[in-house]
Amino acid sequence: MHSLPLWTISRENAGDLRWSSYIPGVSCTGAYRSHCLHDRIFIRERMALTIGVPKETAAGERRVAIVPEVVRKLVTQGFEVVVEAGAGEAAYFTDDAFREAGARIGTCSKALGADIVLKATPPLKPEIGKMKPGSLFLGLLDPLGMPALCLELANRSVTALSMELAPRISRAQKMDALSAMSSVAGYEAVLQAAAALPRFFPLLTTAAGTLKPANVLVLGAGVAGLQAIATARRLGARVSAYDIRDAAQEEVRSLGAKFVELVFETQQDADTGGYATALTAEKAAQQTALLVPHIAAADVVISTALVPGRPAPILVTDEALQAMKPGSVVVDLAAPGGGNCTATKPGKTVTSHDVRIFGPLDLPSKAPVDASAMYARTLFAVLTEFSDGEAFRPNFEDEIFKGMCVTHEGQVVHERIRTLLDT
Ligand code: NAD
Repeated sequence: MHSLPLWTISRENAGDLRWSSYIPGVSCTGAYRSHCLHDRIFIRERMALTIGVPKETAAGERRVAIVPEVVRKLVTQGFEVVVEAGAGEAAYFTDDAFREAGARIGTCSKALGADIVLKATPPLKPEIGKMKPGSLFLGLLDPLGMPALCLELANRSVTALSMELAPRISRAQKMDALSAMSSVAGYEAVLQAAAALPRFFPLLTTAAGTLKPANVLVLGAGVAGLQAIATARRLGARVSAYDIRDAAQEEVRSLGAKFVELVFETQQDADTGGYATALTAEKAAQQTALLVPHIAAADVVISTALVPGRPAPILVTDEALQAMKPGSVVVDLAAPGGGNCTATKPGKTVTSHDVRIFGPLDLPSKAPVDASAMYARTLFAVLTEFSDGEAFRPNFEDEIFKGMCVTHEGQVVHERIRTLLDT
């Protein structure tokens, strides 16, 4: 109440209102409450920014964008947190646990009507309709896959930061939600494969004889692939892996797996952000043909190959499936991008040539406790980089903010998304 700044403003302007100003290089948005002192003098007191966390509504989604540990930290920093009743239920975070951490439990509308909205999945159109103009959305938005959603957010005057677009620089590592979720997916994919394979993963020496270890081939050795390699190794499988990027070779070997080298000439295979670039059709055909004998020798294929903004490359062809042993398993982590296997049906399990092919879309939801905690920590890192409990400060001079911001002040401001919308 006694906090400054103090202004004399007209009675008509009194009441709760949002405030924004331009400070050289930095625009700043915060909420103020006005108090009448005399007839014409009002004190405008800074109000805490509210953070709203609605319950996720996507089918099978069990994560929640905030966990009590992160609520506690945000409240300490001066934020107010509103969590929709039951939002953490599927991840075993109760309303009472959120309350104890300092959050208020409210309705979906209250959560979506906050100054800052956090979500684990892209918002739906009706959810955007409930967001306040001038508010901030922070979460996984799939802006390259669903650019039209960015337009909806811009039309609603919501500033949106996409967690997928956090640049791959060391300062942004703690904000890297994609890597966090990829680690969960890589681990869960191996468990799914181990449960589905009609034989053991490890070498077993028993009175009934010695059983050979399973052969696991990991295609794409990025974050998910490396976690899959480590998990399959811990389960005792014999693991090999392949990636288009040269840099992956050393990482694969350092985890005790064999790197599969394919002898064909590749073009420049990684962009400046560490992501792979797409192969030409001719090179892609050479690659899939060369992979066939390696896939045939595997009991399990975990495929994770992705190229941002492009359909997932096909690595496991029908010919390769036909060459696999009956009962073999493919877990295609690239299913959300269409899949690395010709037979993959995103979200489904299919059988082709006696090989079971899983196209899971919800792997991070299989470990909702840890996945929610990891995800919430990455959101916390972004929030505290650009705001405190009193104001959110967009900063287009900052490469992280500029890289992640897709909409601001009613416009789609991200060049790549604007190009997608124009085409
Ligand atoms: P991703 O999910 O985009 O792709 C997964 C893997 O598929 C990548 O390794 C990619 O090279 C591979 N791939 C793509 N096309 C392929 C093809 N045709 N054949 C075979 N493999 C193919 O990638 P990611 O997991 O997000 O990580 C990519 C790289 O970025 C990794 O080296 C990772 O360590 C690095 N990274 C850096 C940071 C950072 O610096 N902050 C953060 C995260 C990841």
